[in-house]
Parts: sequence; structure tokens; C-alpha cells
Amino acid sequence: MHVILMGPQGVGKGTQAGRIAGQVGLSHLSTGELFRAAIKAGTPLGVMAKKILDEGNLVPDDITLGIVETRLDEIAAERAAGGNVQGALFDGFPRTIPQAEGLDEMLAKRNESILAVIEITAPRDVLVRRLSGRRVCPHCGWTYHIEFDPPKVDSICDNCGHTIVQRDDDTPEAIERRLSLYDQQTAPLLKYYADRGLLKTVDGNRDMESVSEDLIRTINGN
Ligand code: ADP
Ligand code: ADP
Ligand code: ZN
Repeated sequence: MHVILMGPQGVGKGTQAGRIAGQVGLSHLSTGELFRAAIKAGTPLGVMAKKILDEGNLVPDDITLGIVETRLDEIAAERAAGGNVQGALFDGFPRTIPQAEGLDEMLAKRNESILAVIEITAPRDVLVRRLSGRRVCPHCGWTYHIEFDPPKVDSICDNCGHTIVQRDDDTPEAIERRLSLYDQQTAPLLKYYADRGLLKTVDGNRDMESVSEDLIRTINGN
């Protein structure tokens, strides 16, 4: 059983997934994080993906579906080994109709399914403000905000002690580009899932704790 977090860049998908995944027995699956890890490791995938990410474009669907399938295999293996993980909490995937169709095929083949698709919402000006102040830990992937969610010690990750940084694609140009790609390519997915009765909505324009509580309630089905 998998859950998909949808919503535009900056709405808080990664932040929320990091906070709640363990509590709902899911494994946080961020395709952006998988691409950044490949870039850091210098794998052939990473070399190819670097320019695409820096410009704020989307990685081709077949490649994205491939890394998702690999990660789903790992989650299934963890589960078979007795881990408390029921499935993936998708963050940033799927982003196109072909990705959503590819995911459906993949899950049918694996006898797995989507429990819920949760759209998190916030107004555009809030998204831009959140993205402009975003900082991430390059070591553990935790997300911060210089104003709304700073680390305890200036510029140092609370979790692992590494220096937090601004992502290469959180420039004003790439932010604009990513938000308009969302409207063109990803927003149509909301109808795709609503038509199948899977879509729920959570207001993301509130403090992190309230959003987390709402998401957990929605995933647990009450
Ligand atoms: P996404 O994964 O949807 O692109 P992130 O989780 O990276 O979004 O969040 C974007 C930025 O907004 C981060 O800097 C994060 O700290 C901040 N943020 C997330 N949720 C909230 C919230 N509820 N209130 C204020 N800032 C938030
Ligand atoms: P953001 O929430 O700001 O979009 P992510 O970490 O989710 O950041 O993604 C960073 C980048 O990784 C995207 O701009 C895109 O280049 C690539 N990426 C992530 N997920 C996908 C996906 N599902 N399909 C294609 N490209 C993706
Ligand atoms: Zn860290």
C-alpha cells in the first residue's frame, strides 16, 4: 500500500514526508532526493541528471520510472525482512501522466496498490517565499528554512552536524520554471486521481505540526 503526496514545489511535501513517514509505517520516497544522491555519487545517471536538475527541467519518464522501481524493490525487501514498512510515501512522483500510468502498470504487476493521493495546497506567493529561503542538508537530506524553520545552531544540520546549503535549483529563474512546469504537466494528475476516487486535499498553508496531524489523520482514514 502506497501513499502519494502531491502539490507544487515548496508546499512542504519533503518536510512533511520526513516528519510523518515513520509514524504511518511508510518509507519516504523522494525522486528528487534519489537524483541528488546519484549526482553526488557521480554515477552515469547522476552525470546525465545534473544539468536537467540545475535548469529545473524534468528527468525523462523512463529513467524516473526505473529509479522508482529499484526503490520499490528495496522497500519490498525491507518488508520481507520484517521491517515496519507497508509501502512508499511518494514525494515528487509521479509528475506527468505517463509516469502515473507507468506507476499503475508497475503496481499491478507487483500486486501492490495506491491507498491515497493527498494534494497539499498553498498560495503561489507562499510557495515562492518558502522556496527562496529553503536550505537542505547535503548529507542527510533534511530540509530547513532560514526564517520559518531554522536549525538550532546557525547553518548546521540538527540531525547530523553538516553545514546546510541552498540547492543549485532554488534560484529565482529555476523556481519560476519549476512552478510553471507543475501547472502544465503535474496539475493534470489531480484529475487523473480524483476520477478514481483517490484524491484528498490538505491545507498546507498552516504551521508544520497542524499539517502533519491532518496528513496522518487522512492516511489513517478518519
Ligand atoms: P516541497 O518538497 O513540496 O518542494 P519542502 O518540504 O522542501 O517542499 O518545503 C519548502 C520550504 O518551505 C522549506 O524550506 C521548508 O522548511 C518550508 N516549509 C515547509 N512547510 C512549511 C510550513 N508549514 N510553514 C512554513 N514553512 C514551511
Ligand atoms: P522540488 O520539490 O523543488 O521540485 P525535488 O527534490 O522534488 O524538488 O526535485 C528536484 C528535481 O529533480 C526536479 O526539478 C526534477 O529535475 C527532478 N525530478 C524529481 N522528481 C522527478 C520526477 N518525478 N520526474 C522528473 N523529474 C523529477
Ligand atoms: Zn543532516
